[in-house]
Amino acid sequence: MQVSRAAGPPFAGPPGSGPAPSSAIRAPQGPPPGARPFPGSPPPPSQPSPPFARPGAPLQQQSPPQFGGPPPAMASQPQRPGFGGLPSGPPPQVQRAPFGGPPSGVSPQAPPFGGPPAAVASRSAPLSGPPAAASYQPAPPAAVPQRSPFGGPPAAASAQPPPIGGGPFTAAQAPPFGGPPGSVPQTAPTGGLRPFGGPSAPSQQVQFGAPPPFGGPSAVQPGAQPPPFGASQSQAPPFMGPAGGNVPPSFAPPMWQGQGAVPGGMQPSMRMPVMPGGMPPNALGQGMSHASTPTMPYSPHAQVSTPSKIDPNQIPRPVQETSVIIFETRQGGQAAIPPAASSEFIVKDTGNCNPRLMRCTMNQIPCTGDLLTTSGMPLALLVQPFALPHPSEEPIQLVDFGEMGPIRCSRCKAYINPFMKFIDQGKHFICNLCGFSNDTPREYFCHLGPDGRRRDADERPELCRGSVEFVATKEFLVRDPMPAVYFFLIDVSMNAVNTGATAAACSAISQALSDLPEGPRTMVGIGTFDSAIHFYSLRRAQQQPLMLIVPDIQDVYTPLQTDLILPISECHENLEQLLESIPVMFENNRIADSAFGAAMKASFLAMKSTGGKLLVFQSVLPSVGIGSLSAREAEGRSNTSTGDKEAHKLLQPVDKTLKTMAQEFAEYQVCVDVFLSTQSYVDIASISVVPNTTGGRVYYYYPFSALSDPAKLYNDLRWNISRPQGFEAVMRVRCSQGLQVQDYFGNFCKRVPTDIDLPVIDSDKAIMVTFKHDDKLQENSECAFQCALLYTTVFGQRRIRVINLSLSCTNMLSSLFRYADLETQFTYVVKQAANGIPSLPLSQVRDQVTSTCINILQSYRKYCASVSSSGQLILPEALKLLPLYTLALTKSVGLRNDGRLDDRSYWVSIVSSVSVLLAIPLVFPRMIALHDLTSRDDDDSLVPSPLTLNSENIHDDGIYLLENGEDGFIYVGNSVNPLTLEQIFGVSSLAGLPNQLVLEPFDNELSRKVNEVVNEIRRQRCSYLRLRLCKKGDPSGDFFRSLLVEDKAPGGLSYVEFLVHVHRQIQSKMT
Ligand SMILES: [Zn+2]
Repeated sequence: MQVSRAAGPPFAGPPGSGPAPSSAIRAPQGPPPGARPFPGSPPPPSQPSPPFARPGAPLQQQSPPQFGGPPPAMASQPQRPGFGGLPSGPPPQVQRAPFGGPPSGVSPQAPPFGGPPAAVASRSAPLSGPPAAASYQPAPPAAVPQRSPFGGPPAAASAQPPPIGGGPFTAAQAPPFGGPPGSVPQTAPTGGLRPFGGPSAPSQQVQFGAPPPFGGPSAVQPGAQPPPFGASQSQAPPFMGPAGGNVPPSFAPPMWQGQGAVPGGMQPSMRMPVMPGGMPPNALGQGMSHASTPTMPYSPHAQVSTPSKIDPNQIPRPVQETSVIIFETRQGGQAAIPPAASSEFIVKDTGNCNPRLMRCTMNQIPCTGDLLTTSGMPLALLVQPFALPHPSEEPIQLVDFGEMGPIRCSRCKAYINPFMKFIDQGKHFICNLCGFSNDTPREYFCHLGPDGRRRDADERPELCRGSVEFVATKEFLVRDPMPAVYFFLIDVSMNAVNTGATAAACSAISQALSDLPEGPRTMVGIGTFDSAIHFYSLRRAQQQPLMLIVPDIQDVYTPLQTDLILPISECHENLEQLLESIPVMFENNRIADSAFGAAMKASFLAMKSTGGKLLVFQSVLPSVGIGSLSAREAEGRSNTSTGDKEAHKLLQPVDKTLKTMAQEFAEYQVCVDVFLSTQSYVDIASISVVPNTTGGRVYYYYPFSALSDPAKLYNDLRWNISRPQGFEAVMRVRCSQGLQVQDYFGNFCKRVPTDIDLPVIDSDKAIMVTFKHDDKLQENSECAFQCALLYTTVFGQRRIRVINLSLSCTNMLSSLFRYADLETQFTYVVKQAANGIPSLPLSQVRDQVTSTCINILQSYRKYCASVSSSGQLILPEALKLLPLYTLALTKSVGLRNDGRLDDRSYWVSIVSSVSVLLAIPLVFPRMIALHDLTSRDDDDSLVPSPLTLNSENIHDDGIYLLENGEDGFIYVGNSVNPLTLEQIFGVSSLAGLPNQLVLEPFDNELSRKVNEVVNEIRRQRCSYLRLRLCKKGDPSGDFFRSLLVEDKAPGGLSYVEFLVHVHRQIQSKMT
């Protein structure tokens, strides 16, 4: 290893300000690369797309056309007369847009994530199947080990190409997982499909303490199929009602039904999806919930809800449908109500977008701000532009308008979509967002048919699909699309090395290199740091990597411009060699300080000309150099004695240094992910600002275990770089006149009010957009939302993904409740709470959360329920789980009093970008029994029905898994059968259980099933759960019990008590 100590910037120009060459290049355009062109404001014509000459030889060697190889057909497609029909034989320009399409060799159904595509594809069908699907596909036990593409037992893993590098962790412990749902091709389950979007029962009030609300929820609409979808938490059936015996569900048992609770909770007819506005006859017969004529499930037996009268078995709990739902996004000219985010569904885009990509807190939009305020409900969209599709869904289609570019409204710049109305024989079209009448470009003209639609409407994706992608024209480029750049930065300070964190990082990177996008545009670089920064030149001509040290950590610079980041094809071997030697090189490092901020800044300077992903592996509190931090935790402890009045300030970044740095990173399209493998406080509140501002995230391994955590670290990294994602993105949401965007929430940088900048946007990230009224919307009209995301694929194509949602407007409060989307609304509440944590005392945040719930329910009680029900707690059917989720939120890691500062900051940081799908389990975890997996016969799904989250379900002879999408806590009772311990853990007594759990596959049925369940959950959550052991009788066991949301806890009420509390609050507000 050659080491050269650079004394100062090796080239002209002040350190830190960027090398002269590259700044000169950028000089002509003020705006940084990628900052500009955004939908909405095409760059002034006077600003020609600048030739973005790249500094440095390696970059110049890349000729744009060679990018990872999108079908060349695309660029050359002239304007297409007919976009070829849709599903049948995707035309060349129809391709899997999101991730720029895998390299041609890869099956279009197998996006490049997770496992080696080929291996996964070959056996994926049975296993990637949703639980429900599985139940319709008899899977012989023998096939089981093959089911899970990841984390499977060794046999299964060995069948796949071993992960590169064959790290010590992957084989024996937790094998790599093949990636989340949707990652693998899957045949649509044929047997279990249920149509979705059909009519449904009207909104229902749910009451407790009263007998069955209505006579026969079993009255299924004629023609309607049985419970199409399920049981979403939002649309779940009334928990009471006719005995289940009368109306047995005609399908597999619900996944989410708590055991021992709610007999007969399943009411097929109640799970009907609803069509707004157009009510099916029967539904009307059941009484639509108008404000004036509420459907009171009144019964003479209605009782006042007092604590003594509440039957804990009769209160609302989630019930999960196990059937797969087919959901058409529009039916009969109207928006259909999407299935619950947590249910399994296959979407047919018939005009509105796939709800995975964008869904609203309410499926009908209030005409006025007053009505919205009265409802107490939020109006917001949750947008997840790269959400993984179901494998059976048609990919988003790509449309190339050639040089003309996508058709847009000339006033508001909205993109052409199915709701723009063509008039005057097709010569003009009215914008559905601003109402402006545009001339139809001559090249785009088409005659109208007898139905008033363009004759070509069904052949053009942009006129019949809710989601579509456009090839970006030059006006959207300020430079050539950036290459895919990955820079790895590793903490090699004393503690990082001693705890094994450095070795784990090196091993993970080494193994993950093969998962980087293929092609000449994939580039890598690497650095290490302690109290100084070390860069490495990986030129293959050199025998050994050359180390270059940057000692100045206040005013940093990069030592070289050209050799620090190279195409991976030119340095793969050198890089692997280096990764192997780093832990040895720093084995005896005695430097305890860590210059985290300076190292990031220096790496940024190396990446500044291209942008890219900066992946930082940090292990200790950053103690020196720019952006250094102090151990505020100790300060926090002393503060708690004075009450928690000021404690929240420790959850704010300590100063603006890192934020300012992060904004600069974002400006130059650098996204930072931070992997924290630590044993101590690292001030996540300050550190998380960097990933949260640049489109990245924090990963947290605390306390880091060199035994059990490397597998997770590797899988997290692998998923991070291989999941669908886009670079240098800019996003804007538009809406109909009458509404305006109020704010955006998520991991991005915002420099102008209307757009957000996302150096990277990936399939796991969601952005919340809130709205407010600035005028009235017309009843019976539709309110449109359009999200436009301009981005560069990992293969270097510039695209515009456009996502449309058009919803009915209403003046009726009852309709708002009826079409409320529980999961989306609750996700809003969770994000608002996370937002408030750093600025308010925790007790106030909890009060706000509870007030939100009470205000919504009170509005319903006051305006939509009948007077005679004053003694009952009346819950709108769609929101009946709101109290339970609200209670869970007040007890969550983020809001409970006893959490560590870093744990709370971590929670806040991940909530910032969490999707609807993962927000619910994060707060309301899933618990299942593991000890009896071999004897269960409730259904065929891999993961058994969850248990109600109360301690009545915990027995001393049982073993339970509770998971929230991040962690999996395995609780072991104190009188578990030794044989069971032996089968699952390979030990014969409680005393023999290791503290650091590595779940190994053993050769017995129970062990196989436990591993299957864990792997299936990891797949569902797109997350490699971190498993932790909790034993009865020690603090870990107590912690586990504190996660049982329904129990009374030191910091909170029991579920029954909370319902009583809510009821009393509503009553007192009513009088
Ligand atoms: Zn317009």
